[in-house]
Amino acid sequence: MLTQTGVERYKELAAQSAERRAADMAAIKQCRFDTIAVHGLYSMNEALNFNQGSIIEPMYMSSSQTYRDSDEMEAALSYQIPTWCYSRIGNPSMYYFEQTLALLEGYGADVETSCCATSSGMAAIASATDPFLTVDPANPTQKINFVTTCQVYGGTFQQFSERKMKERGIDVRWVVNSDDLAEWESKIDENTRFVYGELPSNPGQAFFDLDAVIKLAHSKGVPVIIDNTVGTPVLMRPLARGADIVIQSVTKTLTSSGFGIAGAVISRKNITSNFGTDGMKADFAMYLKTLPNRDNGQNLSPMNCILSLNDMRTVRSKVDMFSRNSMKVARFLSDHPGVDEVNYLGLEDNPLHELASRYLWLADAEHDEMYGKPVNRYGHLLSFNVAGGTPAARQMFDGLQRIWRATDLGRVKSVACIPAISTHSQQGEEGRQMAAIPPNMIRLCVGGEHADDVIADLDQALGQVGGKVSVQVPYEYSTGGASGASVVEPE
Ligand SMILES: *Cc1c(COP(=O)(O)O)cnc(C)c1O
Repeated sequence: MLTQTGVERYKELAAQSAERRAADMAAIKQCRFDTIAVHGLYSMNEALNFNQGSIIEPMYMSSSQTYRDSDEMEAALSYQIPTWCYSRIGNPSMYYFEQTLALLEGYGADVETSCCATSSGMAAIASATDPFLTVDPANPTQKINFVTTCQVYGGTFQQFSERKMKERGIDVRWVVNSDDLAEWESKIDENTRFVYGELPSNPGQAFFDLDAVIKLAHSKGVPVIIDNTVGTPVLMRPLARGADIVIQSVTKTLTSSGFGIAGAVISRKNITSNFGTDGMKADFAMYLKTLPNRDNGQNLSPMNCILSLNDMRTVRSKVDMFSRNSMKVARFLSDHPGVDEVNYLGLEDNPLHELASRYLWLADAEHDEMYGKPVNRYGHLLSFNVAGGTPAARQMFDGLQRIWRATDLGRVKSVACIPAISTHSQQGEEGRQMAAIPPNMIRLCVGGEHADDVIADLDQALGQVGGKVSVQVPYEYSTGGASGASVVEPE
């Protein structure tokens, strides 16, 4: 029964639905990872009361929301009641996706999280970092900096070095040896707005002691932003360990289908930060969604939200399978004479194996009848250097017949690329040396095929090094028609 009138009436209604959602939240938080991934906050209540009983979260292909009257509109647009209003800001489909991902990133810890879905992983990185890089009205001439691992995704390197450092004069301080805590410490000062890290890194598989870096940064009042794309919440949950903000390229392993591009910023409530307004610190992801991203317009479309949500439901078992396949492939490559070096954190002789093993655990393995105990998994990204330098690496790469040559990763289909001429080409020789990316490195992301078939393809491609290579040209670029022509490369 509603007792109020006008705007107050809608606030009362909103309080009732907030109560119902809080109950749904409390109930789903009691569930295991897979259940959360499958249901999120989409309960029977939600289906029956708001969605015609649909068991699957509907795709709300609608630009905007209508209001009952001027009172409701006023209450909504002054953010006094929950509203989605306009799909650049929010949308029910977006909400279901965001709630599920927020729950997964906070899984297993007593931490309150929220999420803002963005149009790509790069948009997530820009959204998460830019609010910290604004002018402090009390200190307008301050030369601001941030501290980041140099082993980051190529696009991240470009955004930091070109868009932020060169174009905006922000001092970007690269940490070269991220496992050296003293280097982190020497680079953080009173002008540091945040520290940023990617682990495991793409493609080099760098790793650092996350707990120690969080402790160090927080002792100086500096927030920690982590790119958790490669690990996914299945293997690692930085927010649960105390990090302030996580970004995801949802495009990658989290979805793995390859249907589209998407990203997300997930944050814990009440982040640590010397800089920023109280509202920004209280709920960073919600602040992003309702203010900067509302104004800059990089939030995700409802269609991509539902596609991502649907793909994410089975992420735990997929990451487990991909990881097991990758382990077999990594072992094969490390025993192969045509390969100089394999970078995979799962290999016991990797110098970072022990450190990574402290962090990368398959969620709920102890509750899984197959395992019944905690189990390490290391994801499906690996890289290897082909013996014989660049020509051999290119020859081997060109010989792949089932593994796709694409600047992509995180797929259910195995994909490979040569980072020096693709994902990391723009950062130049010097930048690549700093990030330890040699020209004969092949990045491989092992998918859901049977590992034996992936190994067979790698084996035959490695066998072609030094010999004549027959390259299939399946279509002509000009027409897109099939030609089936086969060309023989000169020796
Ligand atoms: C791909 C990727 C990104 C960027 O994500 P997009 O969705 O392609 O914009 C960021 N970080 C990592 C680690 C990535 O692999």
